[in-house]
Formats: sequence, C-alpha cells, structure tokens
Amino acid sequence: MLDAQQQLLVGTVMPMPGQHARRASIVHEIPLAPAGNGLLLRGQGYRTSIGLISNTLFWMVVSLSGLTVWMLVGSWRHMRRRSQMQSALVQETNFRRAMENSMLTGMRAMDLEGRITYVNPAFCAMTGFTDADLIGRLPPFPYWPPDRIDENTRLLKQELQGRSPAGGIEVKVMRRDGSQFDSRMYVSPLIDPKGQQTGWMTSMTNITEAKRVRDQLSASHERFTTVLEGLDAAVSVLSVQQGELLFANRSYRLWFGADARGHAMLAGAEASLPYLPEGGEDAVDGFGGLPAQELTEAGSDPREVYVESLRKWFDVRSRYLQWTDGRLAQMLIATDITARRRAETLAAQQAEKAQVTSRLVTMGEMASSVAHELNQPLTAITNYCNGMVTRVKGEAIQKDDLIAALEKTSKQAQRAGQIIHRIRAFVKRSEPQRQPSDARQIVEDAVELASIDMRRRNVAIHTYVAQRLPQLMVDPILIEQVVLNLLKNASEAIDNAKLPPSRRHIELRVVPRHTPEEGGVIEFSVTDMGPGLKEEVIGRLYEAFFSTKVEGLGIGLSLCRSIVESHRGRIRAQNLYNGSTVVGCRFSFTLPVETTARSEALAPAANPTVIS
Ligand code: ADP
Repeated sequence: MLDAQQQLLVGTVMPMPGQHARRASIVHEIPLAPAGNGLLLRGQGYRTSIGLISNTLFWMVVSLSGLTVWMLVGSWRHMRRRSQMQSALVQETNFRRAMENSMLTGMRAMDLEGRITYVNPAFCAMTGFTDADLIGRLPPFPYWPPDRIDENTRLLKQELQGRSPAGGIEVKVMRRDGSQFDSRMYVSPLIDPKGQQTGWMTSMTNITEAKRVRDQLSASHERFTTVLEGLDAAVSVLSVQQGELLFANRSYRLWFGADARGHAMLAGAEASLPYLPEGGEDAVDGFGGLPAQELTEAGSDPREVYVESLRKWFDVRSRYLQWTDGRLAQMLIATDITARRRAETLAAQQAEKAQVTSRLVTMGEMASSVAHELNQPLTAITNYCNGMVTRVKGEAIQKDDLIAALEKTSKQAQRAGQIIHRIRAFVKRSEPQRQPSDARQIVEDAVELASIDMRRRNVAIHTYVAQRLPQLMVDPILIEQVVLNLLKNASEAIDNAKLPPSRRHIELRVVPRHTPEEGGVIEFSVTDMGPGLKEEVIGRLYEAFFSTKVEGLGIGLSLCRSIVESHRGRIRAQNLYNGSTVVGCRFSFTLPVETTARSEALAPAANPTVIS
C-alpha cells in the first residue's frame, strides 16, 4: 500500500534495508478512494523461481511425475514382452496341438486317482470312443476287454504307483465295436509348474502289425532252429577273425561241447585259416583285398575226417558266409558217416574177396588147361633127363651135348616155373592197389594166361595194342582179371558153339579214344566170331550168378563191371552183324586216361584226415 508519494507504507514484500526495490514487471494499482485519499493499493507480480526451486513440494511433484513416466514405460515394455510371450505360447500350443493331432500315437492323461483327464484324437481314433466318452471316467475304462479287467486293473495300479516298466507294457485294447488290437503303452508322470505330480501321461501305439511280423519271424526262427537242432549233422559257425563260435546246433554241442575246438578239429587242413587267436590279424592278410562275397560263394569239397576221441568218421562240408553282423564266418556241416564207412569197408572187403574168389574160380576152371600146359615142359624135362641118363650110362655123350641138353631141361623147367609164377601172381590175394600201369603189360599178362586155355580149345588170338599209350592209374591185377574174363568167355562161347576153325578166332584191341561223354579213354575190346549174345541174355549179362553155361558161376561179368566202374570206366557188350545174322560179339571197356593225372592230384586228399 502506497501513500500519495508513492512511498511504501506496508507490503508483503519489503525491500531489504539498503536495497532498492526493483520494479516489478507486472504492476497493477488501484486507488483506495474514497476511503484513503491518495492511497494506492499496488499489486506487483514477482518472479518466484528461486523460491520454487527450494520448494520440497515442487520436487516431490517432479519426482512423482518422473516415477509415473518410468512406470508407464516399464509397464509398456512389460506389456510388450507379455504379448510377445503370449503369441509364442499360442504358437507353441498350436504347434503341439497340431503335432498331437497328427501323430498316430494315442495319448491319455490321468490324475493321481486314475481318472482320465485328457485323450488326444489319435487315442479316440484308435479306440473308437470320443473324448466325451472317456474324459472323467474312472477305471474300468470302456476300452478294456471284459475278460481282462482284472489284469488291466492290476496293471493300472502298477502304473499309478509309478512301477511301470521303462520298456512299456503290452496290453489288449477293445475298440468300441468290440474288436481288439494289441498295443504298447508307455507311462510318464505329469508334473505341474510347481514341481508337483498331478497325474500320469500314457502313450499308446498299435503294435498288431509289428506283433504279427514279430510272431511270424519268431515262428520262422523257431522252425529254423528246430530243424537245425534236430539235424543229425553237427552244424557250427565260427567267426574267421575272432575264432568265436557263433552258432552250434545240438549235435555239435553233444559231440564237441560248446567251444570252438571241435570246429577247428573238423576244419582240419582248412584250420590254417586265420581264426587262430595269435597272429590272427596277420593271417587275415591272406585274404587281403578278397571281397567277402567271393569267399562266401566259394564252397569247398566235402572231406572225410576221423575223430579219434569220438571214434567217428565225419563227412565235413564247409563254406564261408557273411554272418548276420557282417563278419566273415566259416560254417561247417559234419555228418556222422561212421556206419556208412563201416558198410563201405565191409563191402570193399567183400568185393575184394569176391574178386579173389573169382580169380581162383577162373584158375580152377582153367585147371585142366593149366595141367595140360604144364605137362608139356614137364614131359620135355622127363624126356631130356631120361635121354641124358641113358646116354650117360652108355657113356655115349659128349660134355657139350650134355650141357646143351641140361640147358634145354632148365629152360623147360623155367617155362613151367613161369606158368606157375603167373598163376600165383594172378590169384594171390592182395589189397587192391592203384599204381601207374602199362596197358601193354596188362594185356600181355592176361593173354599169357588166357592162351593156356585157348590153346587147348583151339582158339586163336590176335592182339593189337596201339603204340605210345598213356599210362593208366589202375590196379593191374584187376584189369588183367577183366581182360582174362572177357577172353575166357569169348573162347568158351566159340568152343561151346563148336564153330569151324575159320571162326575160332578172337581179336583183342587196345586203342586210345576220345568220346564227348567220357573224354580221353583207353578202350580195351574183345571181339569174337562166336554165336553172339541172345536177346534174353543181353538184359541179364551183368547180373551176378546169371549164366547160360552148365558149370558157369555167372559172376565173371558182374565182377568185370564193378571193377571197371570202380576205375571210373564203362563196359558194354554188342552183337556183330552181317546183314541180319549175328556173326559174333564184342565186349569193350574203357578206362579214363586222365585217371592218371587226377588220381595223382587227388592222392593226398584221398587219404582221409585222421584227428586224434
Ligand atoms: P559165366 O561165364 O560163369 O557164365 P559170366 O558172367 O562171365 O559168367 O557170363 C554170363 C553169361 O554171358 C554167360 O553165361 C554167357 O551166356 C554170356 N556171355 C558172356 N560172354 C559171351 C560171349 N563172348 N559170347 C556169347 N555169350 C557170352
């Protein structure tokens, strides 16, 4: 309030003593008339900023505003993150739902009491029930087959106690239509975000097809093992590298136990294969670069092995195969052939006896001829001796004449001795023995013996042996026996038919031949000009004990055939014709030439392996 002189009488803002009041920028004055003359009421506007800055309220307002802004920003960011998370969650949920809907595995959730809380579409599709039928249900569930309720209750209990096997359980499930299928169920606990278990999640797969395939497989496996186990032969499979017995059937286990020693024993020579544990790797190098395929395709010849400890003979066949895990393995099949071997040995002994007997019979039949043959040198010896005695007594002999006469006597004695030696060599019982033999020598020996009989029967023989014949790998005595038999039969046929001298004639030819079926052979043929073979005889020629002769035994030709065939040759007989008349017959047999080479090559293998 100012007086008329503009002096400040009183005011809210007094200037500091000594300071000059500043003129306010905003001034408004009103005269206080009429109450006080000249008095002015002045209102001045001042800047109060300095005052405000020190004002707490102001700062509080400022800081609150700042806080509000910060919170607004914070909540905006939070909102943004939340909406991002929400959309990620929706996306994830959609993804899981799609996955759940698309998968073929049925899913079922249960709470801790066993109440179904959730089923996925696959579960509904598999069982034929809708989720409305299932959710909220307590056991027994509608998809339990009525006859398995007890079992399923037990399994569910196990499930709820968390004792289900990790490998899942196999159960039968009944569809709504009553049909059933096999399923496998796996159970895992359902845990809520707080880490508390709220129930169980079960997945279910239809394993009907898998089970059918598995059943089929196991049935076929069972059939396979039954057959293998039932075999009389020992079957064993050994891994080549590790020497580990991969498979052994019952017979193998019975004979050799459950280890690989029996296999190694049977493999014998082939045991040089690398399954010896030490240095095995080195030995495998023997197969270096050889594809397993080739080994598995290469079979090997059967071998006969004697196992001393079992006193048994085995026919062993081996082959390589790729085992189920791809390893190279050797499979051996060993068949017990002891009985067969025994029978074979027996048969061979009997055949040998028969051959010897037959040779004795031949000689018996030829006895009178032999006696006649021996008679000649013996008579000559007697004559020489008598002559010498007479002349010595009369002292009418010179020393030279005596020596000449003695030499002649000795020659005759030698001749007689030769005949006896020949016969002895022929009938001597000996083991059949194949050896490199000369066809010419065989023929000469046979002809020498046969001619004794032929001379008596007045039958001539003409022999032709081709030059440079390859050597034969045969038993010469047996082949001689065959030739002699054929010659004897021919001369008997001629003699018995009382043929004229022009037809008392036999031809023996030995020539090399080559036929498509037999390859290179040496053919022995005996052709006679006799009466030939009658129709009814041809069919029964090789029958044992078939004979048309009064004193015939009928074992000659049957033995000839078995001897020739045991040498892998063939024997045949045919009539010779002149027009339609039979003018004789020809017996011929062949011996394969490569017998030599092959027998030698086979010689070591022919000796069976003996294992103690
Ligand atoms: P065997 O001589 O003891 O009768 P074989 O088995 O040697 O016994 O001969 C059987 C039969 O074959 C003889 O009885 C004979 O009828 C007939 N046969 C064999 N060789 C001739 C041949 N060269 N000519 C005619 N018939 C033959």
